[in-house]
Amino acid sequence: QPVVVAIDGPSGSGKSSVSREVARRLGLAYLDTGAMYRAATWWCLRSEIDLADTAAVAAAVRAMPLDQGVDPSVEKLEVDGADVRADIRETWISEKVSAVATNLDVRAELRRLQREAIAGQTVPDSFSEGRGIVAEGRDITTVVAPDADVRVLLTASEEARLARRARELHGAADAAAVDATRDQVLRRDRDDSTVVEFQVAADGVVTVDSSDLDLEQTVDAVLDVVAR
Ligand code: C5P
Repeated sequence: QPVVVAIDGPSGSGKSSVSREVARRLGLAYLDTGAMYRAATWWCLRSEIDLADTAAVAAAVRAMPLDQGVDPSVEKLEVDGADVRADIRETWISEKVSAVATNLDVRAELRRLQREAIAGQTVPDSFSEGRGIVAEGRDITTVVAPDADVRVLLTASEEARLARRARELHGAADAAAVDATRDQVLRRDRDDSTVVEFQVAADGVVTVDSSDLDLEQTVDAVLDVVAR
């Protein structure tokens, strides 16, 4: 039976690294839905679309030529033939992504693509030969795949999340780096929570708190949930 593992969590919870590693260990495909919202933002900005023009943004996203891989060991993300893996992690995208992600027509379109990707991995003849997929984001356990076999909310204290982001962005988690990260992370979480609930686990969703766990320990904790 193909298995669908859905993992949600706020930024800095470690969900991307954890989900990718869980997929690798289980031999499953991996879908990073945050990368899709980031790619959509990249595409709109590159096309010089005013992000306040919600109809234009939605039309652009519907027409976006997105090519995303689902092999957890080979990250592939192209928009219109351009490799956008590095660009989408930059501040100019992180600062604008919520504006695109709070557009309900954009969400409908990306949700459609996400469900397609998940369904594609639950039939034989795809990357993981029908073994399944780990899909990760903000609304996977609740909206995109509420029927997933395994649903996990990965949480972490604000302190732990800020320290992780600071290390990712500035290579250190000293006070200055954490301060430089705080506004961006907290504002994004606040904006995102106006359209998706990812702070509280929905019914049947298992919470894993990674505040005091390293990557390896968090992966093990999620694998424990999968094995239940
Ligand atoms: O997970 P990541 O930080 O890459 O997500 C980037 C942004 O994409 C989030 O801040 C949020 O605005 C949006 N997102 C979303 N729903 C998802 C995944 C990401 O709205 N399922």
